Amino acid sequence: MRIPLAKPEILESDIAAVVEVLRSSRLSQGPVMPAFEEALATYLGVSHAVVVNSGTSALQLALRTLGIKEGDEVILPSFSFMAVTNTVLNERAIPVFVDIRPNTFNIDPAKLGAALSARTKAIIMVHTFGYPAQADEIVDFARRHSLYVIEDACEAIGAEINGRKTGTLGDIGIFAFYPNKQMTTGEGGALATHSATTAEALRRLRNQGRQPSPEWFQHIETGYSYRLSEINCALGLQQLSRIEQTLSRREALARSYENRLRSNGSLTLYTKESKDERVSWFTYPVLLTKGFHQQERDDIWERLKQTGIECGRYFPPAHLQPVMRDFPFRCGDLSETVSIAERLLCLPFFNSLDENQIEHVCASLNEALSHQTSSGGVAQATS
Ligand SMILES: *Cc1c(COP(=O)(O)O)cnc(C)c1O
Repeated sequence: MRIPLAKPEILESDIAAVVEVLRSSRLSQGPVMPAFEEALATYLGVSHAVVVNSGTSALQLALRTLGIKEGDEVILPSFSFMAVTNTVLNERAIPVFVDIRPNTFNIDPAKLGAALSARTKAIIMVHTFGYPAQADEIVDFARRHSLYVIEDACEAIGAEINGRKTGTLGDIGIFAFYPNKQMTTGEGGALATHSATTAEALRRLRNQGRQPSPEWFQHIETGYSYRLSEINCALGLQQLSRIEQTLSRREALARSYENRLRSNGSLTLYTKESKDERVSWFTYPVLLTKGFHQQERDDIWERLKQTGIECGRYFPPAHLQPVMRDFPFRCGDLSETVSIAERLLCLPFFNSLDENQIEHVCASLNEALSHQTSSGGVAQATS
């Protein structure tokens, strides 16, 4: 039995919607993009959604629109997908890495103060694995220090804090629709904002800096070619129309993993910080307990791979990536980031995963863990 880490759900209705666009010969800048944007804005509860060709493009346009420039400092987690750091570096801004809270894998609000300087302009608040970050505290801190908040909800579409969706809580929210996310457009991304001026700037930047009609060829700044085709938007509109079913399905899968793994003393599972949060399950992370080392985690990963089970080793800390040698950055103590990155394993997680597969993954994980008893954490715990 081969079980991938992630897999998109493509229904016949998705295929039909895409084929309809292909038959129309209107492949870009047609009616489907605004329909997708409208549906997305309504779902999120924001005034404006602007779709682009990737989540990374969305991050870049957010930084550009908020005026983040060379030498400005941006606070962000090191424990995240490299796109976040890359985007800051590409704008010649300076990443300031802040450590995460071990129970949510998200930036620790208590550590923001130490990261602040006169050059700090923004915080990128990532909702890692669909677990809501402590948005109230982070946004409050940002407001007190006149910083922008860019919310990276690329792994968290539909997650909520007090009934408000992640990606709508700061100045600009970012979403991504790569095939491993909760919903996909193949490649694609989106920005969410309450501000009409910001939305207009984003639409201009994604289309060569061009003013919307009537001044058709009026380019008022250097923009990009970050439009999302009608083909992608048609798929996105379909996927979005069933996002709530998708999220319920994924919630049930997470419960199923949790029920099987809860009593495993070698693993720490995510538990909600507060009743007011709704998780949007992106993957199923299990954290090996403190005695384990990276080598043991990697051995388990390898052993599972041999049996056909593909797991993820998210995320190698950004501040330790070779590319960082070529750029200035700042950081304080990142010991939680380093420790968690060494011990985390993400289990296969996608809509069509069934009970037999979950059972097989859990049994194989237990089996792989039992091979670790001669060294590391389990040995210490049992000797
Ligand atoms: C997926 C993702 C992105 C953007 O990814 P793209 O591949 O550019 O669409 C950005 N941030 C995080 C945290 C992500 O998981």
